[in-house]
Amino acid sequence: MDKILEELPKKASEKHAENKKFFVKLKKKPPKNLDYVMQELHENEFERTDCLKCGNCCKTTGPLFTRADIERISKYLRLKPQLFIEKFLRIDEDRDYVLQELPCPFLDNENYCGIYDVRPKACREFPHTDRKKFHQINNITLKNVAICPAAFNIVEEMKKRVAGK
Ligand code: SF4
Ligand code: SF4
Repeated sequence: MDKILEELPKKASEKHAENKKFFVKLKKKPPKNLDYVMQELHENEFERTDCLKCGNCCKTTGPLFTRADIERISKYLRLKPQLFIEKFLRIDEDRDYVLQELPCPFLDNENYCGIYDVRPKACREFPHTDRKKFHQINNITLKNVAICPAAFNIVEEMKKRVAGK
């Protein structure tokens, strides 16, 4: 996995123009069965990919935290929400709460999440490859393929399945 992660940004950068073109075309005319295809591609990929051998999203990106995330996680940690914010979060340029530091402080050495059951919604949904109307998040996906080897593989498969329709 280390080698895959090391090579991923270069591979993603080489595919960037092709992926961008693909998503522009897809957005104009998304196939009717896109949600179904994405669900299948996502499930197939995550049967092969073990996130515990990777953890790259938690190490390099981190989620944004909604108010509901902050309330839920603080309660779990028995911290006042304001104290949780002061300890772990900052506000980014989009006015969202994000982690002060990466890797995520809740990630342990074996890539387990210390707050897994109450983790942010963005963590639960990453890399968003099984969400409905996948073509609407093309800009996020173009970035995620450089971070997440599973997202990279899913987009490669997707181009084979959906291209030319
Ligand atoms: S909260 Fe958990 S899943 Fe989310 S980035 Fe941190 S370690 Fe990863
Ligand atoms: S979601 Fe992607 S980046 Fe995150 S641990 Fe799994 S394979 Fe790695």
